[in-house]
Amino acid sequence: MTKPNARPGVYRADLHMHSVFSDGLKTPETLCAMAHELGLQAVALTDHDTVGGVEEMGRAAQAHGLDWLPGVEIGSGASGRTHIVCYGSAVEGTEMRAFLQRMSDTRKARAEEMVRLLETKAGIHLTEEGLKLLDRPNVSRPHVARAMVASGVVDTTDEAFDRYLAEGKCAYVPRTLLSAQETVVLARRLGAVPVLAHPMRLKMEETAITAFILSLKEAGLMGVEAFHPSASPRMAGQLEALARREGLLVTGGSDYHGDPQAHARIGGLAEGWTAIREDVQALMNAVNHPR
Ligand code: AMP
Ligand code: MN
Ligand code: MN
Ligand code: MN
Repeated sequence: MTKPNARPGVYRADLHMHSVFSDGLKTPETLCAMAHELGLQAVALTDHDTVGGVEEMGRAAQAHGLDWLPGVEIGSGASGRTHIVCYGSAVEGTEMRAFLQRMSDTRKARAEEMVRLLETKAGIHLTEEGLKLLDRPNVSRPHVARAMVASGVVDTTDEAFDRYLAEGKCAYVPRTLLSAQETVVLARRLGAVPVLAHPMRLKMEETAITAFILSLKEAGLMGVEAFHPSASPRMAGQLEALARREGLLVTGGSDYHGDPQAHARIGGLAEGWTAIREDVQALMNAVNHPR
């Protein structure tokens, strides 16, 4: 069926976006309206550790004539930096929801600990207005960063991360998470399609990234997010080639959070994703026929 926004010969998709249900600034409805406006054909909401926005995303995508996939981005690994994006209706199942709820429950205590560390280690006190931003589900470090800006103790959220909230800084509180392998195994057991998000964010040598992807494939990984703002066109091409060689799905997304100053824009991917239409179709097929 031809979509009202379909442009002959041009196919655009964004399979990695965040909404107000995690640390994004836009609602799922706004994301879909923007995607439609930009001429995209397919979208996926991949909030951190929650499927709270998936239902709204589905309704909005349909209303705007967009293809869509349920998704969630699960923080994994010792530093929480290994992100596994899972696609498919299985992410909304009872067992996945229970797992994500446990992750959400620990976030509240962690935010309180960050506030305490800001006070005791840095002498920083958040204002009532700032603290209000933390009284919400799935509170994460970007919310603490925004609370610090609102409290007037830093000028930007980047400054909040660089000076206080990044790994190793005085108000950083680690989370206890599954390993990436464990997350992949869980996703497969529940019938979801696990994809390694933004491999370049792992800050590993190129050969180590390859080895890591191969080890995750052993655990059941089904795809690699080759196209992401963190990957240069050259690296995206290498990740794409590796994925294809290994029979893994190739995916991509902007990781849009809605921040006006961030460079990621909806549908804005590294250049060179020439097989985007086929790759999105292959992901849709995989999601509809869990192995
Ligand atoms: P959390 O899951 O609470 O540890 O927060 C992780 C989120 O914080 C990531 O998904 C990013 O959106 C954001 N983030 C992490 N590191 C930085 C950084 N150095 N500067 C800005 N944002 C960051
Ligand atoms: Mn985020
Ligand atoms: Mn991520
Ligand atoms: Mn993300």
